[in-house]
Amino acid sequence: MAYHNSKGPASEHVYQDTVIWQCTSCNCWSRKEYVSVAEPLCPLCKSKMVEETKNIRLLD
Ligand SMILES: [Zn+2]
Repeated sequence: MAYHNSKGPASEHVYQDTVIWQCTSCNCWSRKEYVSVAEPLCPLCKSKMVEETKNIRLLD
């Protein structure tokens, strides 16, 4: 019986390379599209963040 509402096979998740800001001191990161400043600092430890590309799962 189907219990999953998403379109397509339920076992497949959509991943996409996304530009993020990654903290240089901890594991915190944010999607760049959600960050409005040019050189953000980590909201947790106030360290410098670097721009990276991360393959993250998209929410549907
Ligand atoms: Zn941090």
